[in-house]
Amino acid sequence: MKVVRTPAEMQSIIKSHSTKSIGFVPTMGSLHEGHLSLVQKAKAQNDLVIVSIFVNPLQFGPTEDLEQYPRNEAVDCRLLEDLHIDYVFIPSAQAMYPTKPRIQLTLTDRVNVLCGQSRPGHFDGVAMVITKLVQIIKPTHMYFGLKDAQQFAVIQLLVEDLNLDVKLIGVETVRESDGLAKSSRNVYLTETEKHEAPYLYKGLQLGQSLIQRDETDTKVIIQAVKEYIRNHTSAEIDYVDILTYPSLEHIDFIEDDIILAGAIKFSSARLIDNVILTSEGHVKKMD
Ligand code: AMP
Repeated sequence: MKVVRTPAEMQSIIKSHSTKSIGFVPTMGSLHEGHLSLVQKAKAQNDLVIVSIFVNPLQFGPTEDLEQYPRNEAVDCRLLEDLHIDYVFIPSAQAMYPTKPRIQLTLTDRVNVLCGQSRPGHFDGVAMVITKLVQIIKPTHMYFGLKDAQQFAVIQLLVEDLNLDVKLIGVETVRESDGLAKSSRNVYLTETEKHEAPYLYKGLQLGQSLIQRDETDTKVIIQAVKEYIRNHTSAEIDYVDILTYPSLEHIDFIEDDIILAGAIKFSSARLIDNVILTSEGHVKKMD
């Protein structure tokens, strides 16, 4: 595995390969089994695999955790080495953004709900970095976790609207045995919060079970999930919502595929999770 630090070097390496397929996994590092499941899928489906580690400043708001975001480059590289990937691309912020911004991407669809509503500009920053990474790496396949289901839905639009020549693959959320979605931010949880955090997913599962029992009124389901999370955690609820998926539109009654998503804030960590379901409340198969 070779570590590459500049876009120019990465681009010349890509030019030197005549491989049929390039699988690319963009990450912000502090890798865990969730990330590694994306890498394994990329390995299984491609001749060449590239992982990027870049904590993208553009997708963090002024009061968010850019400086505190956990960084573990040495451990990350060891984990990737064990999976025998070909290249890890670890550019500095200066290498990715050498000038002050001269171009801004502004997304208008699928961004004014869920995390997009709580984190204004976040998905514009994600879109910019993904566009740049696609230009640099020219992947044939790009892998994203469905834990960030809104991100996946937004990147689908980016790929369509900018005619990016890459196939997107969504990968199921990897969880701890108690149901908590693996996340780089879980290291911020206190001991008490670690015990409470799985109740976000348990709350979403409660919502799913209501849908399976023919409840279609989204207000009723959202209320029940919120109440459950409030009763079992000390976290502040950022949102719990039900939207069509992947179009992310509000609905009063469930008639088609939906996402039931939640975000909660503990003392130093904001956690997100979701379930993507058919109208009968079964987990929607995404591949
Ligand atoms: P991040 O480093 O948080 O930007 O995540 C990089 C990629 O890993 C994104 O596509 C995430 O959706 C994905 N990812 C993060 N956590 C998980 C998880 N628990 N299961 C599956 N994929 C994940």
